[in-house]
Amino acid sequence: MQQSYGRVTDQIIKELVEIVGKSNIVTDRDNMESYSHDESPHAGKHFPEVVVKPEDTISVAKILALASKNKVPVTPRGAGTGLSGGCIPVYGGILLSLERMNRIIEIDRENFTATVEPGVTLSEICSKVEEQGLYYPLYPGEMTATIGGNVATNAGGMNAVKYGVTRHNILGLEAVLPNGEVIKTGGGYVKSSTGYDLTQLIAGSEGTLAVITKIILKLTTKPVKREVLFAPFNSLQDAIDTVPEILRLKMTPTGIEFMERRIIEIVEKYLDREIPYPQYDAFLMIIMDGDSEDEIHEYFVNVEEICKQHGATEALVPGSERAKRRLLDAREKFYHAIKRYAPMELVDVVVPRSKIPGFVRRVKEISAEHGIPIVAYGHAGDGNVHLHPVCDNISKEEFDKRLPLVLGDIYRAGVSFGGAISGEHGIGIDKKPYLAIQIDAPLLAVMKKIKQSFDPDNILNPGKIFDL
Ligand SMILES: Cc1cc2nc3c(=O)[nH]c(=O)nc-3n(C[C@H](O)[C@H](O)[C@H](O)COP(=O)(O)OP(=O)(O)OC[C@H]3O[C@@H](n4cnc5c(N)ncnc54)[C@H](O)[C@@H]3O)c2cc1C
Repeated sequence: MQQSYGRVTDQIIKELVEIVGKSNIVTDRDNMESYSHDESPHAGKHFPEVVVKPEDTISVAKILALASKNKVPVTPRGAGTGLSGGCIPVYGGILLSLERMNRIIEIDRENFTATVEPGVTLSEICSKVEEQGLYYPLYPGEMTATIGGNVATNAGGMNAVKYGVTRHNILGLEAVLPNGEVIKTGGGYVKSSTGYDLTQLIAGSEGTLAVITKIILKLTTKPVKREVLFAPFNSLQDAIDTVPEILRLKMTPTGIEFMERRIIEIVEKYLDREIPYPQYDAFLMIIMDGDSEDEIHEYFVNVEEICKQHGATEALVPGSERAKRRLLDAREKFYHAIKRYAPMELVDVVVPRSKIPGFVRRVKEISAEHGIPIVAYGHAGDGNVHLHPVCDNISKEEFDKRLPLVLGDIYRAGVSFGGAISGEHGIGIDKKPYLAIQIDAPLLAVMKKIKQSFDPDNILNPGKIFDL
């Protein structure tokens, strides 16, 4: 569909000022810079015509009704930590920042739920919920992200093996449709067979169907203990071959992360700190929650045994909280470290867990075929492999020329192993050219019809996931 949009006129600005107040509107270019990009390495920058910061649902509804009437595109934005260009306003228009909608409305200790606005950060939710003796178990690596962004991208992270991803931890939403109507989906209950499940449809829709204005989160009890086991291997293959066996043990780990020596070296330099076992090529980090130290200890004895059968000669369980925190902290810094190291791209293909070894083997072949190093790490326990093609051996120009071919080959490999091209970061604008590798024409046609039924004028986050 050839798209032409209305511009943000002086009259529209005047009406926006009436809705949110002058101090919650940004129109000068300098102050809009931070709203023109996200953390994606290749998505680039696009400036909106205006940034608007509503503080409640009614204001969001009025802004969308105004935009709809004037056919002005609207791009929702949380904290801008996304990794696929999802919140970049590619058609200009209104950048709808949810940063002021940052209240925790209720923590319900009877029903284990929290009702929150979309602009609350993940870090704040976790700490406020824990103050009430409850637990929100999601642990995507970036705690400054907003919960609205987490829901819109269906964020995953390091605890997904045990607790699932964001969509498994939400019970209901309030959302504003592109025409300004407000809908409520689900509620503070744990099951429902009442009509279509729009909570789950809006989760992961990357702000293309509706603007999320409230979220009912499912909470649980906080595990008594969390421990981490760090095991070194002689090869990435040995490390990854270990994962299915660990998962066959009776207890489910919270997460299993894998990493190559290369990323460890890069993060050591970034943090100016040594990580144990410099002589090894690959590592597993197994995160385990439990009711007691003994329970976790018993589990780790079995895990260590499996690791040793696959070539690990030792394994480390940090003795102090500080040492444990340092290890987890190093893992959280991977993305920032590699971003500082060299120009790079980020891939977050997910494959069935048992297919990780074969997939990573194929990725190494692709790396050799194109002469581009690919650094691998990721959530081994749920099959979500993070790959960074890096530009540290050829010119940037040559890297940019080869990159689309490398990415195409990686995505085709992932899909041929039964996987998907994005496990948690979303399609945004970055992966749009590759969507057809996985999504066939009939399925894409259904997705487009869903988009059109929510947003007939295609004003909400246009240009993301697919073009109409
Ligand atoms: C260092 C680092 C580590 C990361 N680690 C992980 C990880 O382990 N796992 C993981 O899944 N992600 C990870 N991410 C990616 C990122 O944090 C997530 O994608 C996060 O969910 C984005 O939240 P945000 O508030 O920054 O959203 P934004 O980047 O602002 O927006 C993301 C998408 O959500 C939409 N959106 C935002 N708010 C709303 C709303 N209220 N209603 C409708 N749509 C909305 C936007 O339009 C956009 O499409 C990481 C990022 C960084 C920088």
